[in-house]
Amino acid sequence: MTASTERSAFRVFVAAISVAILLSFTVMSAIMSLRAESLIRQVELERARSIFGTLVLARRWNAGYGGVWVPKTAGVESNPWLANPDVETAAGTFTKRNPALMTREISEIATGETGFRFHITSLKPLNPGNVPDAFEREALGEFELRQTEEDWRIEELDDEPTFRFMGALLTEESCLSCHAVQGYKVGDVRGGISVSFPIGAMETARLRDLRLALGVSGALGLGLVALFLSLVRALRRKLDELRRELREQAVLDPLTGLYNRRWLMERLSEEFAKSRRTNQNLSLAIGDLDWFKLVNDQLGHPAGDAALKALACILKEGVRPYDLVARIGGEEFIVVLPATELSGAMALCERLRATVEETLAARAGFHERRTTISFGVATRQDSDELPDALLARADAALYRAKSAGRNRVESAAEPGPPEPDGPVRG
Ligand code: GH3
Ligand code: MG
Ligand code: MG
Repeated sequence: MTASTERSAFRVFVAAISVAILLSFTVMSAIMSLRAESLIRQVELERARSIFGTLVLARRWNAGYGGVWVPKTAGVESNPWLANPDVETAAGTFTKRNPALMTREISEIATGETGFRFHITSLKPLNPGNVPDAFEREALGEFELRQTEEDWRIEELDDEPTFRFMGALLTEESCLSCHAVQGYKVGDVRGGISVSFPIGAMETARLRDLRLALGVSGALGLGLVALFLSLVRALRRKLDELRRELREQAVLDPLTGLYNRRWLMERLSEEFAKSRRTNQNLSLAIGDLDWFKLVNDQLGHPAGDAALKALACILKEGVRPYDLVARIGGEEFIVVLPATELSGAMALCERLRATVEETLAARAGFHERRTTISFGVATRQDSDELPDALLARADAALYRAKSAGRNRVESAAEPGPPEPDGPVRG
């Protein structure tokens, strides 16, 4: 996986998690609101049922007496739908209240005082005032088909959301005195009573709660997403840091902090190719501490380490910013000198050699033993195809420096005298 596909896959992952968090909060609050709405509807339905049940009981009580006589005082009208609605007695005139009229009169009181409305209605009303409206007709149709004995819905009535309930009125024995003429038998659906009451205040409160729930859960979801994103960002920063450290560790020498052989070989290849392309000089020096084994043997390994660290500092301080310095082995170092011809490289190595001779032991913390270094220097020839050729010549020059007595800088261009005793380098 390339870095850019890894990055876009990661972005998709982070976006998916963020959307999932927001969605789950939204769905959670939507479910809770739906649940609240269904509970409210249930309460409203129970309320309507209980009112309807009370009315049916009152009607049954009324019908049980074949209607109830009330004094015909001022404002009390006779029921025009009854054959003989009035009776004269010694106590005065009485007029009959049958269940239908009683229901209407209770409804009028309720509408004025409580906002509740009742309407007794039927598909074959005796009184045109009892003609059903659209909802009631629909409910009555269902009652007739015996699909159900109650129906409800929420409807705008007088510009206010209204809970409307309709219960079926079944023909009872006592109803037949008036309704037998219409062909009703006991048990027939004779009509229904609708119960309506406004629910505007409840709906406003419910919608306010819904908005609040959505707002709070949205804010919580966004907060969580922000937290998640900042966590991801922090983890990513840490990961990048660790990656950088790992990359550095892979190319750094832990003892001296200089770059290692692996890094140097890569950079040398680049510098070599660049110098060939631009036809610029490129020189390279290999430095190797002289008799270093003896330093370890006589002064101890920690002293040897200190010498290696001090040498690393001398080399870094002694080269130009664009020169490359690396530790390629135990006490072997390479300095790559871009845009430098052989004489310049020799001069630079000579300075380094002199500094090592004069200061290394002191900088490493021991004065008992003067410690020196030998350099082999080479510069790129046009015939060199690969950096290995340059390395080989620098190595050969170092070999000559060792052979010639150490603490010297030798170049590949100046072959030294033949070595009769064979190699002396470690
Ligand atoms: P020459 O002048 O021919 O180079 O002799 P030399 O003793 O320097 O050569 P040789 O290769 O025999 O010795 C290299 C020594 O470097 C051997 C080893 O103990 C030491 N050495 C290599 N790596 C380390 C290191 O990390 N720390 C220390 N203290 N010593 C090291
Ligand atoms: Mg050595
Ligand atoms: Mg060596």
